[in-house]
Amino acid sequence: HSPAPAIALELTVNSPGQMGELGRRLAKILRPGDLVMLTGELGAGKTTLTRGLGEGLGVRGAVTSPTFVIARVHPSLGDGPPLVHVDAYRLGGGLDEMEDLDLDVSLPDSVIVVEWGDGKVEELSEDRLHVLIHRAVGDTTDEVREVTLRGIGERWAAADLTVLSA
Ligand code: ADP
Ligand code: MG
Repeated sequence: HSPAPAIALELTVNSPGQMGELGRRLAKILRPGDLVMLTGELGAGKTTLTRGLGEGLGVRGAVTSPTFVIARVHPSLGDGPPLVHVDAYRLGGGLDEMEDLDLDVSLPDSVIVVEWGDGKVEELSEDRLHVLIHRAVGDTTDEVREVTLRGIGERWAAADLTVLSA
């Protein structure tokens, strides 16, 4: 018999460096067309995770908070997929507005990472990986984060998320 598919994983991340490492690991299992939705309050570590992910994908340009733009495209330096990094915070109109951004990239060929996308971009894909980041309760160092990864849809039903914990 085969074990039940791992569709959710909870991790404790102890530092910004470890958050970057999680992003680099996540990059290894992502495929073109994947949608990753990051949820967590300001300063939780969404952009830090995305930076590691960009490093793992091997894309051009530093991943920063896209404060003044809604989306930024980071082309691959190799033959991997580009990273589309979206800050949906001011994306009032949701998906329609995102399509209107007229990004010079094919979304099905890209890895799409969206911060603040809840309730706005779900329709981009039936399959998506939700990543929730919380500050750990009682952590006085403000360095510890609880991360919950939850895959939704066919794509993630068979994915082994345990490779993300080491
Ligand atoms: P967000 O995009 O969620 O607003 P950022 O990644 O921009 O958050 O910022 C997170 C801040 O918290 C950074 O200053 C980072 O150095 C700090 N930090 C401290 N501990 C962690 C951790 N374990 N993971 C991620 N960031 C952390
Ligand atoms: Mg951010």
